[in-house]
Amino acid sequence: MPSAPDPKRTGLLLSGGIDSAILFATFVNEGWQVTPFYVRTGCTWELEELRAAKDFISRLVPKKVDPLVELNMPLADLYGHHWSITGRHVPDSRSPDEAVFLPGRNPLLLLKPALWCHLNNIPQLALATLAANPFDDATPQFFTQFEVMLQAAIGARVQIVRPFEHLSKTQVLELNRELPLERTFSCIAPVDGLHCGRCNKCAERRRGFAELGLEDRTRYRDSSFRKLNFD
Ligand SMILES: [Zn+2]
Repeated sequence: MPSAPDPKRTGLLLSGGIDSAILFATFVNEGWQVTPFYVRTGCTWELEELRAAKDFISRLVPKKVDPLVELNMPLADLYGHHWSITGRHVPDSRSPDEAVFLPGRNPLLLLKPALWCHLNNIPQLALATLAANPFDDATPQFFTQFEVMLQAAIGARVQIVRPFEHLSKTQVLELNRELPLERTFSCIAPVDGLHCGRCNKCAERRRGFAELGLEDRTRYRDSSFRKLNFD
């Protein structure tokens, strides 16, 4: 059995996107020892996300950051011809957030990192879910029940912490305007390694910067929207 956990250690799901990057920097700046996780699922944006996550971590050195832990949870055998695997018919900028639902995403992403934390004496695992997340596997009830399920399986509690669960995208961006957020990645239809500029997640990203009046230095493959008034 693992010994008593260290009180100031946390695991953190680092997706390479804006929200988890800011959460990561927040924990690090508050003196926590953070172990970041990237879960490789085989979705079409994996390489760009992973590159962004590693790049972001390298910019926080020499602060107290553990190496990125990469865990495999391949989903092609489960999701089949889903757009997240094939890259076809990806929800565009006009689609509702419900269109980007990935069945079981949070339990699939949480399970291995939570077990890793347990096996390495880390008492909690953080993720950057936001208030606007509309999905059933992002509710406080889900996270509590996930902790209970895990405790029944391993005999110990790993707390799933969500410091941003009452915040909007804009409020999260306001927490730290100094980070190199153009280095983060949050597109579900990347083109030549760049943000496409057209998908649901690119639209959310652009909207976040625009609402805050923050310069968006992201390189978008299709930047024609810059000529238009942002809706
Ligand atoms: Zn995109």
